[in-house]
Amino acid sequence: MSKPSRVLYWFRTDLRITDSPALITALSLPDIKAFYPIWCWDPSYIYGHRVGLNRWSFLLESMKDLSDQLTSLNPRQKLHVCRGSPEEVLPVLWREWGITHIVWEKDANAYAKIRDECIKRLAKEKGVVVVDVPGRHLFDPDLVGRMNGGKPTMTLQQWQNITKKIGKVEQPSLTPTILPDPGDTTLRYSRKEYKWDKVDMNAHLRTGKDTCFDHFTGPKGDFSVPTLSQMGYPPSTTSIRGGTTQAHLRLNTFLSHPQAVATFSKPHTAPTALEPSTTLISPYLKFGCVGVREIWWGCKRVVEAYKGEKTKEPENMFGQLEFRDMYACAEALQPHFERIRGNSVCRYIDWGLQNQYDERGIEILPRPRGEEEDERRFEAWREGCTGFPWIDACMRQLKSEGWIHHLARHSVACFLTRGQCYISWERGMEVFDEWLIDWDPASNPGNWMWLSCSAFFSQYYRVYGLVSWPQTTDKTGALVRKYCPELEKFPDKYIYAPHTAPLSVQEAAGCVIGQDYPLPILDERAEKDRCLARIKNAYQLGFRGADPEVLSGEADKRLKELHEKSGASTVKSEKERDEEKGRLKREREGDGTLDGYVKRQK
Ligand SMILES: Cc1cc2nc3c(=O)[nH]c(=O)nc-3n(C[C@H](O)[C@H](O)[C@H](O)COP(=O)(O)OP(=O)(O)OC[C@H]3O[C@@H](n4cnc5c(N)ncnc54)[C@H](O)[C@@H]3O)c2cc1C
Repeated sequence: MSKPSRVLYWFRTDLRITDSPALITALSLPDIKAFYPIWCWDPSYIYGHRVGLNRWSFLLESMKDLSDQLTSLNPRQKLHVCRGSPEEVLPVLWREWGITHIVWEKDANAYAKIRDECIKRLAKEKGVVVVDVPGRHLFDPDLVGRMNGGKPTMTLQQWQNITKKIGKVEQPSLTPTILPDPGDTTLRYSRKEYKWDKVDMNAHLRTGKDTCFDHFTGPKGDFSVPTLSQMGYPPSTTSIRGGTTQAHLRLNTFLSHPQAVATFSKPHTAPTALEPSTTLISPYLKFGCVGVREIWWGCKRVVEAYKGEKTKEPENMFGQLEFRDMYACAEALQPHFERIRGNSVCRYIDWGLQNQYDERGIEILPRPRGEEEDERRFEAWREGCTGFPWIDACMRQLKSEGWIHHLARHSVACFLTRGQCYISWERGMEVFDEWLIDWDPASNPGNWMWLSCSAFFSQYYRVYGLVSWPQTTDKTGALVRKYCPELEKFPDKYIYAPHTAPLSVQEAAGCVIGQDYPLPILDERAEKDRCLARIKNAYQLGFRGADPEVLSGEADKRLKELHEKSGASTVKSEKERDEEKGRLKREREGDGTLDGYVKRQK
């Protein structure tokens, strides 16, 4: 006879009851006497991780929706939210609720691994059985990594070759139809006071009193899902609603258009569209509101039944999901994937505003101020005030919605790094980290390395035009008009380069450039040429982030010498600045046209 089980199911980034191999495993444990679905409201995430309001609201909505789903399976059930770190919360619950097993969905990323190893040690000491079950990806990133000789997967082809040997993507798990009761939820444990004694990364967002950790089980002692106001936050601005119900609505709507599914071609979707031209499923995948196998097999069924011509990998939907897995396998196997220093897959390029480290190799925070010109560019990029409407519209959309199209991400990432600004991808990644709802610890740094040609991709001479590129999908500038309303009345001809409009046109549009909207912060073509020359040098020297020359600073010295020798100077000369000012002034006074501007950028 097996012993009765008292099970803690620890929800993390799997806020669903559908397609959850871990949940099904938990429910199949023998003779379950009590089943507690729980969430640890972890201060190291709440205070120690940069998270914008839109992601917070999405997460809270997703937790609430999950809780409702659990209640719909059993009216005595809900998500039990405990305020505290897993190391504090879990041993309390194990002890007080007599837990025999703890089950969770495996998370292969670096931060989660450290946390989970710590919990496994604690559980072992207390005699609690840990069951962690892969399910977040198409294939377990650790398994793929092992089959790749312990190395990160750096191309999709590599990932595909390995996973072919594993077999097919598993079918989605069954959705449970019943849930056992929780046992007694009384806790004798209570916390007197909680103090976060490190830097609160989200302090700048708080407008009210933060009462988040005043009570272990919530203000009413009922394990309720926290609210934005308990965190001291104002309402969010996004129109994207969280939750597994929304996720399934979105997926089913997509699947109900067979042609769209079967002919999905990522490069041919429009970043300029006002309504997302891709699935917008990423925020839901990020928090596990939908299972990845549900999407995979949902698309498979539709595509197989479709009679017309179909698109292929990598641009079809399967390719998109595979990219997500490829980055997860790279991150799981590559130390320091999220930064340059110590990252052996990342090319070393002497960007401005890189992370700074002390002599022990510890990152210096708050970050020391860099070159003024770099700081000025970075700030303008972040705030959507570069004077390039396409970049500004994308950045403002990102800030207000928490999501932008993949090719919009391409544009802004290319501009900040290798396109024009020559600023470290680490800084751009950090802004995405804060503002994206779908922020992912593998996909975000991975794509930033791709876009900056630091890893995964090396065609650094392919740079997105700041005017010509958005024009390929929308000549009317609809997205610019929405997110940069000060430019709303400009004629189509000038919408992506309003500084080239004659003053009379600017006045008629009610927006004088340099006064009501910024002049471009840099010369697109001159800076592009400078970036190309410098990146060519970096490629020639071929240093990677973990090379001793990078760690000692020798790489910077060698690159500087090469830039000087090759004429790829790092600083803008006074003369160039004056010339640029004069040219912009002339254009503003009327001798510039959009056609002329586009021609000059070619
Ligand atoms: C600089 C930069 C940073 C990025 N940061 C993130 C991030 O933090 N989190 C994130 O989920 N995606 C990130 N992406 C990838 C991609 O832009 C988004 O996944 C995609 O735009 C989400 O929209 P969608 O759900 O409509 O995508 P769809 O095109 O509908 O694709 C479906 C799903 O496939 C996956 N996917 C598609 N493309 C990629 C890709 N290139 N890399 C990884 N997964 C992909 C996503 O899970 C996506 O939801 C980033 C891309 C760039 C260029």
